[in-house]
Amino acid sequence: VTPTQQKLSANLQAVEERLRAACARAGRDRAEVTLVAVTKSTTVAIARLLPALGVADLAESRPQELWHKAEALAGQTVRWHQIGHLQRNKVERTLPLVQLIHSVDSWRLLAAIEQECARSGRASVPVLLEVNVSREAQKHGLSPEDLSELPARLTPLQHVRVHGLMTMAAQVDDVGACRPTFRELRELREHWRGQLPPPHDLAQLSMGMSGDFEIAVEEGATLVRLGSILFEGLAGA
Ligand SMILES: *Cc1c(COP(=O)(O)O)cnc(C)c1O
Repeated sequence: VTPTQQKLSANLQAVEERLRAACARAGRDRAEVTLVAVTKSTTVAIARLLPALGVADLAESRPQELWHKAEALAGQTVRWHQIGHLQRNKVERTLPLVQLIHSVDSWRLLAAIEQECARSGRASVPVLLEVNVSREAQKHGLSPEDLSELPARLTPLQHVRVHGLMTMAAQVDDVGACRPTFRELRELREHWRGQLPPPHDLAQLSMGMSGDFEIAVEEGATLVRLGSILFEGLAGA
């Protein structure tokens, strides 16, 4: 075992303990929450160590970086997640590599993914709708009000399955300030989930990053996206 493996394993263990404690506080089963490792701040060499340490869900925010790391890690059992803005001209190359797209931030992108599934013969792909709950002007995402178009927007879909919602909380000093954002995403999910036809189940809530994941878990996150906290003290981080 190298010092790098040792450090990465210790970081993971510390996160695992905090995840378990947050689940316990919320009366949730740890198995309800998937840790998604965001590898954008680390190297291929370090990302490659993750599956053996029990982390097989990996994510990138830039599509080009996802292509690069997915190719470098080919042959390992990895489920790739696209979590950042996906330009429509990058859908074709990204789609075959990913298990889940968290960042569908416009109806045009949703339609483009549907079209690409049809063109390429991919039977189905699960996606999450990114909602700009904190209403920051510089942020991508649908507004909470945009979701009123959801039933109509789902009608033409034959391949894309809307499997949940995703959000990013505002970056603020007081970490507790993100709780209302996470709560609102959960409430949007509760509101819409019963009104959509199958297979659109809104089962997943992707929320929580290194600075705020425990609050996200307390508010119902099923996917937490963790980067810097996993790789601190390691090369490239
Ligand atoms: C970078 C990134 C993360 C991880 O952020 P950390 O603070 O490093 O944990 C999560 N989600 C998205 C969309 C990101 O771009």
